[in-house]
Amino acid sequence: MDPYTLGRDGLVALLDDLAGPQPAYRAAQVRAWLARGVDEPAAMTDLPAGLRRRLAEVFDEPPRVATRSVADRGLTHKILLTHPDGESTESVLMLYPARDGSRPRAGRATVCVSTQAGCAMGCPFCATGQAGFRRQLSAGEILRQVTVAQRLLRGDEIVSATPGAVLGPRVPDHVSNVVFMGMGEPLANSDATLAAVRWLCGREEPTFGLSARAVTVSTVGLVPGMRRLGALGLPVTLAVSLHAPNDALRDDLVPLNRRHPLAELLDACRAWIQVTGRRLSFEYVLIGGINDAPEHAEQLADLVGELRAHVNLIPMNPTPAVPWRAPPPERMRAFAAVLERSGLAVSLRRNRGGEIDAACGQLYADYAVASGRIMPVARGAAARLAARVGPQPAREQR
Ligand code: SAH
Ligand code: SF4
Repeated sequence: MDPYTLGRDGLVALLDDLAGPQPAYRAAQVRAWLARGVDEPAAMTDLPAGLRRRLAEVFDEPPRVATRSVADRGLTHKILLTHPDGESTESVLMLYPARDGSRPRAGRATVCVSTQAGCAMGCPFCATGQAGFRRQLSAGEILRQVTVAQRLLRGDEIVSATPGAVLGPRVPDHVSNVVFMGMGEPLANSDATLAAVRWLCGREEPTFGLSARAVTVSTVGLVPGMRRLGALGLPVTLAVSLHAPNDALRDDLVPLNRRHPLAELLDACRAWIQVTGRRLSFEYVLIGGINDAPEHAEQLADLVGELRAHVNLIPMNPTPAVPWRAPPPERMRAFAAVLERSGLAVSLRRNRGGEIDAACGQLYADYAVASGRIMPVARGAAARLAARVGPQPAREQR
């Protein structure tokens, strides 16, 4: 049983079931522990010992940290978790130390969480998409990626793993930001994603205490899920993975586009802005020779200009099943310049964690993709794109 999925009423019923009628505050005690990231009943010290034992029998065990790889001189940690059923997922903890001289424990610690084991969307450039879908994660399995990171930050493992101890007191001892950008499509698992978002930063106590602005949900454009997330009424940040400025190209880069084409997706973006009053950001992975021509940038500016959105350009990180690479730096800068000239806010992301396969799109746990297998939808899209690109000059790629 996943303690984070039970809900208040479910928990009250469970406690009564396990130990007879309980005082009204009992469920609140358990939920307060869970919100503090204490997810093992044995550590819930204000509960009667018998109840702790019974809860330990019925609550899912926390995942095990199978391996942790460190990159960027201790600033990036990839955490491979094994869940009690043997399934694995990856999360990434990214540290952004405060400047020298600021107050101790300032700075940011961001966890990038997975919402599914694998992904069914089949984007050919993404390692998770190449590997295919294995199963949904529960709300607890999403949140426990945060609690695992929290425990790492509280202990001294992170600081001691850092060469030259550059971090020390300049990183926080708690998770300050959560981004739903790991393995999987959050809105293809929207019940669990929405429940996790509410635990992190909802209006109903108890929560993990994050501000909604410190939570980002990235979606490839699942329109019904975007509506559900908007209806929560929480000012979380929405990142929409666009990657192509026209339907012909996006149909192959993001196969979901055939179901929710650009016009429908942009309507959903406008609705999001209207309902939440928040700006949104678009993610655009720059792939050399595929979607990086100046003409693509112009089309993109025309497409999203009126939304006053932020455009996040992400250099393509290498993945096992396709030969694609990021364009040369000057071509990426030229792409960004076209967008800037049209008045858009643009950033060119510096990728982290590349040396340990922890960068965007490189998460596939220990799945078969490592041995070169690729799911059919991603294989088909990659083949069509390869044929399209061939030896042609960039301007004919649209
Ligand atoms: N499924 C969601 C969230 C997970 S992917 C989504 O697609 O938005 C998180 C981000 O990593 C997305 O913007 C995705 O497009 C990007 N990404 C995927 N593969 C990548 C790669 N090979 N290089 C760089 N970014 C990649
Ligand atoms: Fe899934 Fe996102 Fe990867 Fe596409 S980019 S396959 S939606 S995880």
